Amino acid sequence: MNLHEYQAKRLFAEKGVPIPPGEVAMSPAEVREIARELGGKVVVKAQVLTGGRGKAGGVKLASTPDEAQKYAGQILGMDIKGLRVRRVLIDQQAPGIEQEIYLAVLIDRGRRLPMIMASAAGGMDIEEVADKTPDKIVTSHIDPTLGVRSYQSTYIASQIDLPRNLWRDFHNIVVGLYECFKSNDASLCEVNPLVITGEGKLLAVDGKMSIDDNALARQPRLAEMRDISDEPVSEKEARLAGINFIQLDGNIGCMVNGAGLAMTTMDIIKLFGGDPANFLDIGGGAKAEQVATAIRLILSDPKVEAILINIFGGITRGDEVAKGIIQALDEVQTDIPMVVRLAGTNAEEGMAILADAEMETAVTLSDAARKAVAAVGGAR
Ligand code: GDP
Ligand code: MN
Repeated sequence: MNLHEYQAKRLFAEKGVPIPPGEVAMSPAEVREIARELGGKVVVKAQVLTGGRGKAGGVKLASTPDEAQKYAGQILGMDIKGLRVRRVLIDQQAPGIEQEIYLAVLIDRGRRLPMIMASAAGGMDIEEVADKTPDKIVTSHIDPTLGVRSYQSTYIASQIDLPRNLWRDFHNIVVGLYECFKSNDASLCEVNPLVITGEGKLLAVDGKMSIDDNALARQPRLAEMRDISDEPVSEKEARLAGINFIQLDGNIGCMVNGAGLAMTTMDIIKLFGGDPANFLDIGGGAKAEQVATAIRLILSDPKVEAILINIFGGITRGDEVAKGIIQALDEVQTDIPMVVRLAGTNAEEGMAILADAEMETAVTLSDAARKAVAAVGGAR
């Protein structure tokens, strides 16, 4: 789960990272009032869950409250990478920007450790820096039992040529960012840019945070911050139904119980020359209602030309699944061919229900995959 800039920056500030004073708003009139209170010179920033807002025209500097209101009118409702802007953040302008630095704490999966990453060449072109001049990016791994040591922030500060009088503040910012990362179960805390202001101070003018979804159960405050307005409808519906669903590019929809079996099913479809349209794990003990929801989710993808249902009955009962399929087909009228393979608990009862409804069934997974691939016109 990703947080908006204003949410991330507030969490950074709780750990002592300096951020500009600011406020979020949903209407130009509100923006004018906030700009007036902040003292006029503000930056109006689109709050959407994507980067590159600056380049898309979603970040504008305003010198007066009237100008802030005008820009808010342009930015609110704007489309940035397919996301509609519903909120803007009004921040007091940084008093001049001498330099834009990139600073982040993130997980290095390869090393299985949190890592500090920084660059003197921060700002809107950081992706290009990472791509073309990776030597301009400095990293240092954090030992979780020790936390950030001062030699680490000193090393980074010297590598990015930070003026020496800012090293102490920089250390506190790195420590604060790591504290924020750890206490919120984040997988990323990023400040881009961390600026050196005209007054010679460090200031975090942008913020991004990704939270580990698996930690949301113990982070109720963060769970409430989730902005579902930008989530694909299908993924929202899946999450509410307790279904693990990930959209892919192929044309064979899959409905499987268990993540491992779902992966296997996708592999076998590939083996027979097909392309899975999604990963879908309906979980253990799925009932008819959930099966119906899963089928609706799969059918909501216009790319789907066939569906392969592969259920291994353990806690999940074959007859329940079969009933769910029939129920779903009552609700969603569709001509899309389906192949069902049931095995395990109550599979025979389930197969009988499906046979009555004249549905195509398969005994082995290979057989099922072959039939599904044939249904979409053969191997690609
Ligand atoms: P992003 O493009 O989505 O990463 O949005 P940012 O929040 O990073 O803003 C883009 C750019 O706008 C930054 O790299 C800065 O150059 C500029 N910017 C943001 N806030 C301020 C500010 O307070 N003052 C000035 N002068 N520039 C700012
Ligand atoms: Mn940025």
